[in-house]
Amino acid sequence: MSPYTPDERAYANEVARFLRKEVDPRSRQIEEEDAIPEELMKLARDMGLFGLTIPEQYGGSGLTLRGKCAIEEVMGTTNYGFATVIGNHTGISTAGIVALGNDAQKQKYLPKMASGEWVGTFALTEPSAGSSPADMRTTALKKSDRYILNGEKIYITNSGIANVFTVMAITDKSKGIKGISAFIVERNFKGFSVGKNELKMGMHGCTTAPLAFTDCEVPAENLLGGEGLGYVQAMKTLTSGRVTVAARSCGIMDHLINRSIDYMKVRVQGGKKLAEHQGLQWMLADMSVQRDAARGLTYRAIDVLMRGERGTMEASAAKLFATEALGKVADAAVQIHGGMGYMREAGIETTFRDARIVRIYEGSSEIQRNIIGGLLLK
Ligand SMILES: Cc1cc2nc3c(=O)[nH]c(=O)nc-3n(C[C@H](O)[C@H](O)[C@H](O)COP(=O)(O)OP(=O)(O)OC[C@H]3O[C@@H](n4cnc5c(N)ncnc54)[C@H](O)[C@@H]3O)c2cc1C
Repeated sequence: MSPYTPDERAYANEVARFLRKEVDPRSRQIEEEDAIPEELMKLARDMGLFGLTIPEQYGGSGLTLRGKCAIEEVMGTTNYGFATVIGNHTGISTAGIVALGNDAQKQKYLPKMASGEWVGTFALTEPSAGSSPADMRTTALKKSDRYILNGEKIYITNSGIANVFTVMAITDKSKGIKGISAFIVERNFKGFSVGKNELKMGMHGCTTAPLAFTDCEVPAENLLGGEGLGYVQAMKTLTSGRVTVAARSCGIMDHLINRSIDYMKVRVQGGKKLAEHQGLQWMLADMSVQRDAARGLTYRAIDVLMRGERGTMEASAAKLFATEALGKVADAAVQIHGGMGYMREAGIETTFRDARIVRIYEGSSEIQRNIIGGLLLK
């Protein structure tokens, strides 16, 4: 039932070997230092991980959504901060330029983003516009050959290391969401600043920071696609992004289930292995069924989107179910490991904390339910 082609599977296996050799051994260091070591960033660049979804003509591997999901599943089995740096860059942060960019914009940004020399971000959320991005206040006013941006964004992934920011701002308030446009902002543009890296529950190693625009000057040629196309593109980007979050969640569940099986086979209590306690076998069975059902919904969403259909309902269903299943599986994995599940040493508590974010970003569980319910009642 896997939707992946033999080539996609082979590439994912190659990436999995890289993760086992280079990322897993550095996971504790990433967790404690809250940064990806520079030598690992270099290895990831050499491996081509920053160019996964960028078209081949610009130096990337040109993976489709399906190919990206194959990689996301294996990324779920390693350090979450590292997986997010790569996943965000090769997902929502480059999608806008690939989809809407003109030749000059693609020539200027994509080769450096494919090589990982420049890291990207996607900036939609604001202090007063989270679940309802249409409430945004950041404005972009045209002034001769440039736009002047004013406003702020918060919680922007990869901001600490990024050079290229895809930013949504209002160009015409009277048009509502059709008055929202997307811009490419470079880190050194006048009037633009990146705030302090936030301290987070999990996702250590991946920076999250606020952005401020104070009469920030953006050349008019950095408008993506044309005025008014920003919101629609952001929603398309988020639909695909939700499927990749679901795919990664399946990979995280694989990791937690495998770790639990390994532990149950060696830990002895009451004269028998945990694996021989029926109550724990049932817990494991429920974890496996949750993971398999999540995978089924994820593969359905991949299939629908790859056929060129809108897939809003399928993407939301996959994200909602897979991320909530992951919450249950992560909790059960801690329980199976007992006290060891709560200790830093085993790494299960790290995954438990990391996993909490997937029910919040790229549209919370409540927002996915609103989308599904709204479509059912349309
Ligand atoms: C670590 C991290 C990384 C992030 N990275 C990015 C990024 O790279 N780019 C970016 O643009 N954003 C990013 N975000 C922002 C993220 O997408 C938002 O946090 C998310 O959309 C929720 O918005 P909010 O935090 O304002 O919560 P709120 O919108 O204030 O929601 C609070 C609660 O109310 C619920 N709620 C809100 N509206 C409704 C409704 N209509 N019906 C039912 N329930 C509702 C929510 O589900 C939630 O439970 C990131 C966030 C985090 C925490």
